[in-house]
Amino acid sequence: MSARYAPSANVIELTESATIAVSARAKSLRAAGRAVIDLGAGEPDFPTPTFIREGAKRALDAGATRYTLVEGILPLRETIAGRASAHLKINDVLPDQVVVSTGSKQALFNSCFVLFGEGDEVLVPTPAWTSYYQILTLARARAVIVRGSREHSLKATARDLEGAATPRTRGVILNSPTNPTGAVYDLDELREILSLAARCGWWVISDEIYREISYAAPAPSLLDAASGDAALGERLIVVDGVAKAYAMTGWRIGWSIAPLAVARAICALQSHTTSNASAVSQHAALCALTARDQADAAIAAMVGEFRRRRDVAVSMLREVKADFVEPRGAFYLFIRIPQRDNDAESGTTFARELLETRDVAVVPGAAFHTPEWIRISYAAPMEDVVEGVRRVIELLMSS
Ligand code: PLP
Repeated sequence: MSARYAPSANVIELTESATIAVSARAKSLRAAGRAVIDLGAGEPDFPTPTFIREGAKRALDAGATRYTLVEGILPLRETIAGRASAHLKINDVLPDQVVVSTGSKQALFNSCFVLFGEGDEVLVPTPAWTSYYQILTLARARAVIVRGSREHSLKATARDLEGAATPRTRGVILNSPTNPTGAVYDLDELREILSLAARCGWWVISDEIYREISYAAPAPSLLDAASGDAALGERLIVVDGVAKAYAMTGWRIGWSIAPLAVARAICALQSHTTSNASAVSQHAALCALTARDQADAAIAAMVGEFRRRRDVAVSMLREVKADFVEPRGAFYLFIRIPQRDNDAESGTTFARELLETRDVAVVPGAAFHTPEWIRISYAAPMEDVVEGVRRVIELLMSS
């Protein structure tokens, strides 16, 4: 039985997530018996730490099986608000400013949907995570691509953003450490952008999902940048979650911290779409955020392993003088693929050839609006990272 389907106006411009499409192709090649090395995945390859899984089991036995408040259980929101207040230092963040959602992806969707609409322009420092563009399209707003310079690790500066602004600009979406480049914005850069946004009356959505995966100094939060000046925090929404740093991708817990009126709108929206995030997952997240000694030890061990892999991959790429962004956080390496035969989509062509002829899956930079690049994830066992990067280099050198 199949009826003819014409997509509604809501989804007419929607495209499938390119990152998920690569993983799906790698899986299907594996199912066909090929030993594919998957360097496309955007999730830690570690299991959720035992103390968190044990906490979730206890919560289940204690009855965490029912609806919770739409915005999430109070102890979790109190904990998140307390952590945010520690960054902000002034005017304590209230638990009511926090809405817990089904992953930071939903928190981002909620934020964009309640803030932006038809005719609004939102600046997106590019390359950026593929879903920002699609989420803004779903909100009927326009994602404005703002390119950072190669010398500046492809990060957009306040000046770049100002140059792309029009009277219709309503906001900007920041992400540091950045997916797909691993670049990290320093505190001065964040403060300059926040000051510009405050002057122009823009909303700032800061996606900080990789903040705890940082290799040099801790990556600053936009809350640190707003610290000491209440005006800077007035239009700031910080989105975070447990997926990456706590190896909890499947639990689907993220949150937004927003001014009260925005938090209320987000809560109302969520009440009509998904209601509360999974109750047992909220308790698992509470355990992750409150058992600090165990959490810090687990994060340090995972970040230490990511660092080892990054260092090995970086030295291999340096040896052949490949052009890549210096990775300071998250678990990605972004590599430029020189054009061949005027192929503007060199990254896409390269990723296809790499998968089909050398059994390595990476994400083409086109997914992030930078078609001359590819993204490698080193959230994979060390031997896969080494062998995968070796094959990337082999193909690069044969071009
Ligand atoms: N933000 C960025 C930059 C990401 O890379 C991802 C996942 O890949 C997410 C948000 C979504 O995370 P979550 O699993 O919390 O929805």
